[in-house]
Amino acid sequence: MKFDSTEQWKSKIKRVLISQEEISAEMKKAGQLINSIYDGSPILLVSILKGSFVFMADLCRQVDVPCEIAFMAAKSYFEGTQSSGHVEITMDLKHDISGYHVVIIEDIIDTGRTLNEIIKILKVREPLSLHVITLLDKPDRRVVELKADYSLFTIPDYFVIGYGLDYGEFYRNLPYIAEFEE
Ligand code: 5GP
Repeated sequence: MKFDSTEQWKSKIKRVLISQEEISAEMKKAGQLINSIYDGSPILLVSILKGSFVFMADLCRQVDVPCEIAFMAAKSYFEGTQSSGHVEITMDLKHDISGYHVVIIEDIIDTGRTLNEIIKILKVREPLSLHVITLLDKPDRRVVELKADYSLFTIPDYFVIGYGLDYGEFYRNLPYIAEFEE
């Protein structure tokens, strides 16, 4: 993907769906959910790269119980515009998660296939508990039955960009969530 000008890049941002202010208001509630998990055993926040890196950075600053941060990278293979469910872990955790309450921090649940695979992989490693917090949920597109423990925003079937989410690796730096102009 290549842009000849800033104007061309901007022309693909159709409209702001969720503002910076709306995101930060919801972030506090998600932080409280993580605080409520704490029972003396350590919490491990696992950000699924790359899409959730901005969300993780903001969310972890709302947590005021002992927690560690980790990153996992997964590559989802696509058939057209949908993930096929074949997930390759391109960067795995360095932690032995068996003594941790694990919270997966995801950017968006669409068909649910990618997260379903990640949950399967992590469950085998027997964490003390496993929770999922997602920034966005597109339930209309679900193929695999799956529900996050906490979803900050439910959105219709739009392709969205910004706040960590990309189109062709661009737009992750937008401070808000926008609908992409196809
Ligand atoms: P799923 O396996 O649930 O269908 O989707 C997995 C991945 O597809 C998400 O983690 C995300 O990277 C990507 N994805 C799904 N919907 C969108 C969208 O609206 N915008 C962007 N930028 N990525 C999406």
